[in-house]
Amino acid sequence: MTAPYRDRLTRAAAAAAAAGIDALLVTPGADLRYLVGYDALPLERLTCLVIPASGAPLLVVPALEQHAAEVSGATNHVALMTHDETDDSFRLLAGGLHDALGHAPAVVGVSDRMWAQQVLRFRDVFAGAEQRLAGDVLRPLRLRKVPDEIAALRDAAAAIDRVHARMGEWLRPGRTEAAVARDIADAIIAEGHTSVNFVIVGSGPNGASPHHHVSERVIEVGDPVVIDIGGTMPDGYCSDCTRTYAAGAQAPGDFAAYYDVLLAAQLASCAQVRPGVTAHSVDAAARDVISAAGYGELFIHRTGHGIGLEEHEEPWIVAGNDVVLEPGMCFSIEPGIYASGRHGARIEDIVVVTDDGVERLDTIDRDLVVLTG
Ligand code: ZN
Ligand code: ZN
Ligand code: ZN
Repeated sequence: MTAPYRDRLTRAAAAAAAAGIDALLVTPGADLRYLVGYDALPLERLTCLVIPASGAPLLVVPALEQHAAEVSGATNHVALMTHDETDDSFRLLAGGLHDALGHAPAVVGVSDRMWAQQVLRFRDVFAGAEQRLAGDVLRPLRLRKVPDEIAALRDAAAAIDRVHARMGEWLRPGRTEAAVARDIADAIIAEGHTSVNFVIVGSGPNGASPHHHVSERVIEVGDPVVIDIGGTMPDGYCSDCTRTYAAGAQAPGDFAAYYDVLLAAQLASCAQVRPGVTAHSVDAAARDVISAAGYGELFIHRTGHGIGLEEHEEPWIVAGNDVVLEPGMCFSIEPGIYASGRHGARIEDIVVVTDDGVERLDTIDRDLVVLTG
């Protein structure tokens, strides 16, 4: 990825200024990685990127993290301020910000997921300053992905698709969900991810619980099995793809009936994606198909979520969300039907809004795969 960080820092500062925020305070997490490419450890010691609305940004890190900060490349774009074990890091940061701004801040934006301990320390050192959420100005930047980010998400999708394509190597009757999941986790790394974010193996009745992870349940012949997997690539971008399989033999008839409905719903929802339509309408496109077939009560979650440097980020593809889709927005389309106590199914792809429609990033087949290996 060509170094986009200078531009992102400039746009973040401009967005802060436009919102009346004197400085953004960004602690470790996806926002920090987005802004300077630093995948910093969230430690009890303070690491914080300071982006003044005007003036040069500053990265405050513990002295023992200086090397990591430099290796990340972040220090190519921002000045570094280190603190030693006995320093008051919050007061040092406040002094640095004062120097950049020329005055004390009246309004600061804190990372959405900054620890409360740090939020309260910043309340002390910036006495009287109003605290707002930095996410309100950073979210619009991260929401629309640029071509390099879309390429990164396409690579991530291809990597997780390769894992699904190998499912017959591991998913067999007689094995436990946990054993299958261990093999899948190894393959997620082998296919190019640096970390495994989750592995859901929901066999038989466990497939009816959307966020079931794994258990010691032994997979039976003919079980429908929901496999929802995702990881993070070396550049920080995430994958997330669900397919439903039948283990060892055709799935039961009542399952096959609703799988076809689910597939039609997922196709309808993907077909609805284009610039200018609401997130609500993409959810409705799936929900209408499922409801019309009489399974509406069994589709118990939103249709999708945004994805990027985080597995779950905005936009939320959910009823009532009037956000209008724009080119570059990336999100999942993952309707499910869950027959409590019996089985369930979900089909999930990551898609990106293009200039005139949609591109599916996960490209493997969506039909029910019967693994009879
Ligand atoms: Zn989820
Ligand atoms: Zn998923
Ligand atoms: Zn998902």
